[in-house]
Amino acid sequence: MNYRNYARKCLKRYEEELGNGDDERLKYAALELRMSMEALTYDRALAYKDEFPPAEYETWQPRKVMTVLLDIDPTADKDSSFAFGEEEEYGVPAQVMRSLGSEKVLNMATLRKHYDALGNYLHVQSMKQVRAGKSLDFGKIRFRCEEIAAFVRAVLVSPVFNVTLGSFATMECVECRKPVRKRIPYGQEIVEVECYECHASYLIVDKGNNNVEWQPQQYEVECANGDCTHKIVVWLHELEVGKSWICPSCNGRNTFALGIRYEAVQ
Ligand SMILES: [Zn+2]
Ligand SMILES: [Zn+2]
Repeated sequence: MNYRNYARKCLKRYEEELGNGDDERLKYAALELRMSMEALTYDRALAYKDEFPPAEYETWQPRKVMTVLLDIDPTADKDSSFAFGEEEEYGVPAQVMRSLGSEKVLNMATLRKHYDALGNYLHVQSMKQVRAGKSLDFGKIRFRCEEIAAFVRAVLVSPVFNVTLGSFATMECVECRKPVRKRIPYGQEIVEVECYECHASYLIVDKGNNNVEWQPQQYEVECANGDCTHKIVVWLHELEVGKSWICPSCNGRNTFALGIRYEAVQ
């Protein structure tokens, strides 16, 4: 499925429905417009398929997808522009920068603002609204639709799209061997990341000079049998009250439980 093309088709059908001028057709125009926004959201998600596998969001609503996109990459809702130039002197920005165009990204704020509003036009008026004598303001709906369509159009004609820039740290998960990737936001020294496959978690620590260190969120736990000193290693997500394991050394069962520590106070 090429979501970008699909968004284009929806927009075209929207224009046809709207151009018809029939107020009763407005809801179909709004529906097509809303679907084009949904298609753009999924299109954006596909750009992050390494960090955000489609299997994770296949059944989600676009709004939820966008929320997760923002978590992976806090810049996902910002428009970006790109320029390059030749440095005459190493490390000194080039005098002439050539623009590669700018990317209009379907941003969360716009999505929130318009998405529900469009949804409201797709329902029959409630009995309360009818009783209150509120009639649908077709002019207002039409205006709102055009406002949203202008935004969708700008995203669709953008020459550069779905580029995910930034420094990504990549590592093979020590638990399941699947790749784990995370964008390191500029200026952030510690980033938490979780393996999508097995939920093992890591801290990525910026060590400077483009070096990062992956620290598995693991803990050594000693067998609670006083006569046994065997230790096992558990992941942060495995540290849970009620979880238990059989000690391979003494064969006893250990279970995580809440405890109380006592200290005398003078
Ligand atoms: Zn893993
Ligand atoms: Zn033991």
